[in-house]
Formats: sequence, C-alpha cells, structure tokens
Amino acid sequence: VAEWYKANGYQFVVISDHDKVTDVSTLNKKYSSEKFIVIPGEEVSMAGNPQVPHHANAIGAVKLIESPERGPHGGRNARLLVDCIRRTGAIPMINHPACGGWGYRELLWIRGPYLLEIANMSDPGINVGVEEAWDMLLSYGQRVYATATDDMHRLESPESKQGPGRGWVVCRVKALTQKDILDALRNGNFYASTGVELEDYSFDGKKFEVKVKPIQGCTCKIQFIGKWGKILQETEGTSAVYEVSGEHEPNSYVRCRVICGGKTAWTQAFRIGK
Ligand SMILES: [Zn+2]
Repeated sequence: VAEWYKANGYQFVVISDHDKVTDVSTLNKKYSSEKFIVIPGEEVSMAGNPQVPHHANAIGAVKLIESPERGPHGGRNARLLVDCIRRTGAIPMINHPACGGWGYRELLWIRGPYLLEIANMSDPGINVGVEEAWDMLLSYGQRVYATATDDMHRLESPESKQGPGRGWVVCRVKALTQKDILDALRNGNFYASTGVELEDYSFDGKKFEVKVKPIQGCTCKIQFIGKWGKILQETEGTSAVYEVSGEHEPNSYVRCRVICGGKTAWTQAFRIGK
C-alpha cells in the first residue's frame, strides 16, 4: 500500500485498518531518505450491527483503541466514539457518516473539533447529504474539518470501487514530518480533493483568494459558500476572490468549493465576523 501511494506522487499515507494498528516504523525507516512518510492509524468500529457501521478513524493512533459499546442513541454513539479516540491523543475522523445513520442531528452531539469524511470515494453514493450536514454543523458553530479519502480496500484494482487514488487531502506544512502533518490535520490547515488541485488559497478575514491548477479541456466553477450552505458567489475560471462585506450573524463562515470536470476540491471553512 505504501509503495503504491509513494509511486503515485503522495507524500504521506495513513494506514487505518479495521480495529488494528499497524506498526509503520519499519516502513518509515525504509523511506527515511525519501519524501514520504507513513502515519499509523486505526479505523475504530463500534460493536454490533454491521449494516449500520459506526466507524471513526483514529489518525496517529499508536496503540489499539478499545471502542465503546453502542447504545440506542445515534448522537450519543458518535460522541462516545470521538471521545474515546481523542482521549488517546489521536485525531478523530467520522467515517462515511450516512452509512452509520448519522446526519447533522447526531453529529451535533460531538464535542470539540474533529474531521468529517464528506467524500468517501469507496462508493460516492454513501456521501449523499454529507456536505449539507457539514454546513449545518458549521452553522451551529461546530469546528469540523472536511476530508476526502479513498477508504481503499482493493489496491490491485484502481478502477474498481474501493480502489486507490480518488480522494485525498493536501496539508500546508513547513516540513514533511509526522508532527507537522498531524498538526495541519488537527487544525484544519488542509484542503480536500477528489482531483482538483489548488495552486494556493488564503483568507485574511476580509478577502478570500483562490487559485486553481488548470485541468486541460475543463472549465472550473469556483464557489464561495456561507452559513447554511448558501452560495455567496460563483465564477468560472482558474482564480477568484471573494470579499466579505456587511454585518454577519453569529457562526458565519465562508468556504470555497471548486468543481472541474466532475472532480471537486473543498477548502475548510473560515469564520467571519465576531
Ligand atoms: Zn468504515
């Protein structure tokens, strides 16, 4: 798995097997002189009912995390799962929430910042409604950072469902170290993508600037999105600027989504106003 991701231009990968922490130290020794690191992790699952999977990734997990028993209340389950991961120092990420029957009402139970898989590329059908849920959570004041992931189960067939190389995150780091990458993930200093690359983006509290790497033969749609998922501005091209103006309700934010030839990139949401 590590070889595939390295050969395909990635600079890091998190190994997150179901209820198992893989020791990645040998791999990192092997890659010590290359620009590639392997980060340990675990996909923690709550026991019971595989038809309604309650899964969350523990990014940076160093030892097996015992999952709490699920109860009848979906929201309480989500909160327990995130809490048990955070307690170990790992970064919690809610996986394929819609599969687990978790919409924004359940996810609102979670305390503290966490990552939310809005684009799980193992089966795009399972992402229906998740980006909208993200907007609801942001609008109610939660700190939630969106991710795109492969949820890769079939390395040998990149073209099949659950193949590699379809969803990823791009972190802004000073150095390619595990610490810097985990810090970037923890603080939302990254964007998520299913194929659109950003040249750069910045927000200084007033002005949101985005530059997109052009994709040949495709016109990019650059959207700025605010509270409750409202589209604030939409332009075509490879760069755009959105200027914040006027008064803002509490929990206002702006985020950017770029759609290009059926692929998407999502920046995190930046808070605006008081
Ligand atoms: Zn899962």
